[in-house]
Amino acid sequence: MSRCYLLLGTNIGDKKQNLLQARESITERIGVIAKPSGIYQTSAWGKEDQDDFLNQVLAVETSLNPERLLGTCLEIEKDLGRVRFEHWGERLIDIDILYYEDQVITSQRLTVPHPEIQHRRFTLVPLVEIAPDQKHPKMNQSNKDLLRICTDPLEVVKID
Ligand code: ATP
Ligand code: CA
Ligand code: CA
Repeated sequence: MSRCYLLLGTNIGDKKQNLLQARESITERIGVIAKPSGIYQTSAWGKEDQDDFLNQVLAVETSLNPERLLGTCLEIEKDLGRVRFEHWGERLIDIDILYYEDQVITSQRLTVPHPEIQHRRFTLVPLVEIAPDQKHPKMNQSNKDLLRICTDPLEVVKID
C-alpha cells in the first residue's frame, strides 16, 4: 500500500454533495481514506464571474501505481461530471495528486509533487491540517513551513 494525498476542488452545483460523491468514488476505486481534512472555502476574487471554491485534502492508502492513480482520478472526474451535468462542458470536480509517498515524478502526463502546492493557500491550509510535518521531497521543507512562507493572499476559511 502507498500513501497519497489528493486535493479535491469544486465550484459548481451542490459543492458539498460533489465532495461527498468524490470521496465515495475514491473509497471504491482508489482506496481507504485514512484521513480527510475539513472542508475549506476560498473566494475566487479576481475572477468575479466564478463562484467560491470548496477544497478538501484526503490522505488515501492505495495499491494503484501513480499512473493508474492519475487515470482513475481523471475517470472519477469525468463520471461525476457526466452524471449530473450531461450538457455542460465544465467539470464539477477536480482531483489533483499532491504527493505519492515521497516520490518525485516528472512525466508528460504527471508531475508529482503537484507543482503548485507551495503557491496555493487553498492547498496548503487543508494539507497542514492533516499532515503538518510531512516533508516536500523536492523543497525539503514541511507542509507547515511551506504555508508559513506562502505569499498567496487568498483567504481560506474552514466551513466544516
Ligand atoms: P492545476 O494543475 O494548475 O491545478 P488543473 O487541475 O485545472 O490545473 P487539469 O485540467 O485538471 O488542470 O489537468 C490537466 C492535466 O494535468 C491532467 O490531464 C494530468 O495529465 C496533468 N497532471 C500533471 N500532474 C498532475 C497531478 N499531480 N495531479 C493531477 N493531474 C496532473
Ligand atoms: Ca487543480
Ligand atoms: Ca486537475
